[in-house]
Amino acid sequence: MSDNGNAKHVKVLILGSGPTGYAAALYAARAELQPVVLTGTQLGGQAALTYTIENYPGFPDGVGGAELGELFQKQAERFGAVTEFDTANAVDLSKRPFRVTTDNGEYLADVLIIATGASPNHLNIPGEAELTGRGVSYCATCDGWFFKDKKVVVVGGGDSALEEGLFITRYASSVTIIHRRDTLRAGAILQKHAMSHPKIKFIWDTVVTEAIGTDKLEGVKLRNVKTGEESTLETDGLFIFIGHTPNTQMFKGQLEMTDLGYIKVNEKMETNVRGVFAAGEAADPHFRQVITSAGMGAAAAISATRLLEAESE
Ligand code: NAP
Repeated sequence: MSDNGNAKHVKVLILGSGPTGYAAALYAARAELQPVVLTGTQLGGQAALTYTIENYPGFPDGVGGAELGELFQKQAERFGAVTEFDTANAVDLSKRPFRVTTDNGEYLADVLIIATGASPNHLNIPGEAELTGRGVSYCATCDGWFFKDKKVVVVGGGDSALEEGLFITRYASSVTIIHRRDTLRAGAILQKHAMSHPKIKFIWDTVVTEAIGTDKLEGVKLRNVKTGEESTLETDGLFIFIGHTPNTQMFKGQLEMTDLGYIKVNEKMETNVRGVFAAGEAADPHFRQVITSAGMGAAAAISATRLLEAESE
């Protein structure tokens, strides 16, 4: 790392500290590129908010998401990766080295690996924003504990909704999963667990149209999408798991993206800008698993290493 004016000049700058970011850091560090990882606001990324990860190979009994994140970090740092508790706000990809402006300063990077991941979608209904943290939540691992012996509603029909709904049954007296269709998107095993759980019930073909409450959530307004019938359900918690949006806003206009905002990459994790790589959920609408994200992070770092080697010849 060297100072260039006030900007720190690094060979490899990695944006994001989830499985993608630290897998990239591990490979770049072992290639002796002294990568710098900017953590972003959530050290360990979304995986760190997951209570147990049961499908990451090597952990036959499962592993805590936060624990796995710490192991990734430790392993990358052992080979010289540097972690900076900092968040990138703006990038200039028009020339190399790329200029990245952060909360705490500025970096110049010969190579940039984007591992900024994705964030949970919101319903955008009245009351949702006002009651977030007062009954409305997007993270069962973070907030489930607050709902001990309370009634909770979960929105969504995918793996996240069922997995998180099952997790909340540890605390809540009841978990009502509200899904806009009558068929779940979630995998078969999760469906089986949720359907047979005594604390879980389902409301089908229904959307939540309002979060009700002043100081804290008191209930939700519902609408049956088939009959149009409206009703109110008392609840202490509203957990929303309706998919994710990639954290790629800051690259708009500079990198090619899909209509949904995923960065377009080739099989080498190269973007349309030479020297900029993207991996994990910022570029992947399909798999969104810890193992696939980590694999893409490693691939991005290998490609970055090859590029820097070729350029130094
Ligand atoms: P997802 O699979 O996209 O599911 C989102 C769910 O929310 C769908 O059921 C969808 O309904 C519903 N939904 C979307 N917008 C809505 C709205 N505005 N109002 C009401 N409902 C809405 O998202 P996810 O569950 O977060 O999973 C994302 C990816 O991560 C998937 O590939 C999943 O397999 C993976 N994942 C895997 C695990 C695991 O392996 N253990 C755990 C978590 C996530 P429709 O079904 O009608 O579209």
